[in-house]
Amino acid sequence: MSSTTTEPRRYDHLIDGTSVPSDADRLIRRDPSSGQLVAEYAHAGQGDVDLAVAAARRAFDDGPWPRLSGADRARLLRRFASLVDGARERLARLDSEEVGKPISIARGELQGVVAHIEYAASLAHTERGDAWTTLDTDFVAYASQVPLGVAALVVPWNFPALILAQKLPYALAAGCTTVIKPSEFTSSSAVEMVRLAHEAGIPAGAVNLVTGLGPTTGQTLTSHPDVDVVSFTGSTQTGRLVASAAGHNLKRIGLELGGKAANVVFADADLDRAADAAVYAAFINQGECCVSGARLLVQRSVADEFVAEVARRTRTLRVGSPADEATDIGPLIHGEHLERVLGYVTAGHESDATAITGGERLTDDGLDDGWFVAPTIFTGVAPTDRIFQEEIFGPVLSVVEFDDADDAVRLGNDTVYGLANALWTSDIATAHRVSARLRSGTVWVNTNVDGAPALAFGGTKDSGIGREVGHEGLREFTESKTIQIRSGNRQLPFPRRTGGTA
Ligand code: NDP
Repeated sequence: MSSTTTEPRRYDHLIDGTSVPSDADRLIRRDPSSGQLVAEYAHAGQGDVDLAVAAARRAFDDGPWPRLSGADRARLLRRFASLVDGARERLARLDSEEVGKPISIARGELQGVVAHIEYAASLAHTERGDAWTTLDTDFVAYASQVPLGVAALVVPWNFPALILAQKLPYALAAGCTTVIKPSEFTSSSAVEMVRLAHEAGIPAGAVNLVTGLGPTTGQTLTSHPDVDVVSFTGSTQTGRLVASAAGHNLKRIGLELGGKAANVVFADADLDRAADAAVYAAFINQGECCVSGARLLVQRSVADEFVAEVARRTRTLRVGSPADEATDIGPLIHGEHLERVLGYVTAGHESDATAITGGERLTDDGLDDGWFVAPTIFTGVAPTDRIFQEEIFGPVLSVVEFDDADDAVRLGNDTVYGLANALWTSDIATAHRVSARLRSGTVWVNTNVDGAPALAFGGTKDSGIGREVGHEGLREFTESKTIQIRSGNRQLPFPRRTGGTA
């Protein structure tokens, strides 16, 4: 089965508006549904990373971008949004092919990409500081938000264009210059988006990109002394490495890391809508999603009926080629990840849990060349089981029953992660009380895997540090600078005036 119709794409780094070939070996990407070669990228070593950071440094220290008015930055970002809008279908196809995500899902994400750039443009136009006008006679102060400098943006493979759009336009709106490092598996849409940013008129040195591997290119970039702020999305394990390097260099960091969201369904909820959302939240993007509703908590009185319905709807999902309009679930990102996910499925089978649907790799009906796993639901899961505790990042849903709100909150918070949770109820008091007690950056009520560019996103606990997107997302790339102005005399304790003139 193949979703590829063209020659493999071949990309170099984009540094200061110029295509720069690799100073190290090159990398290849294969379509995870077919194994077919689809792209070849440069691999940045120290030399390429130095060049890219130097270009961003020059553009920040001496270039026009940080000095443009907010209105001018907004205008160029809107032009960028419009070019991305025109390229949506092509970008969606690139992400679909390299991630293995169904094309229908990729198209939705590209709408989100455009929305983020447009929203960031509005922030560039409207960002403002603070003023203190009642400090004292003849003494006023104002604080402006100044860009932090050179931003390193490190993006994972699961939502390549969307996660880039949660960082790049906000960094640019703030006046930062950037060096992007996309995932080694899914770099194409990022390269194409950088070209569109240049075409829009955003100065070349303000947006640079190096492709390559995490432990080489990524590590070199995030620990580079000339980088001022690192915005990283990826695993908690890698996030710790980035944080310790940034701690050593005293850089600002934003970390968006792993998750293990609970999806809490109370008996009084609209169970029909909740069942659809439970399937969607667990299996969107094959479960390769940091906010997947991977732990389904259902109130005991409705659990049997509700879970049976979720399983029935899950069996209607179509697993297949990402290029097929009818596909709901594509392949996993690569063979190593498939083995990891299947390891969790085995752990589920070996515990007292029962796979009521799925529970295996799919190799029939033309799926044999790809990394396909059947959407899987385990019931009878103990909260201590690995499948309930650890981030699987695949299409595996664990179901646990609860008795009351206290029990639901205890189970929901029984995780090292705190990125997002969801709850379903028709009682507004339950909605308020439970959402207040669930420890995560986001809580969805009667919805799941939802959002808008205005709404800050990020995690507590092992899910990260800081908030992305929205106004808080812009502020990740700025710091305040206070200007204090005294227009009259100030009484100083010394030098003492003893009368007469000195
Ligand atoms: P990784 O942490 O492996 O990689 C993320 C990015 O960091 C990639 O570009 C990767 O490059 C790079 N990288 C890897 N090692 C280093 C390093 N030592 N120094 C600097 N950069 C490095 O995560 P995955 O790509 O595997 O993504 C999946 C993970 O990301 C999941 O755990 C998921 O929960 C999390 N995630 C979190 C999100 C959030 O918003 N909170 C959103 C999406 C995913 P390369 O690809 O070449 O290895």
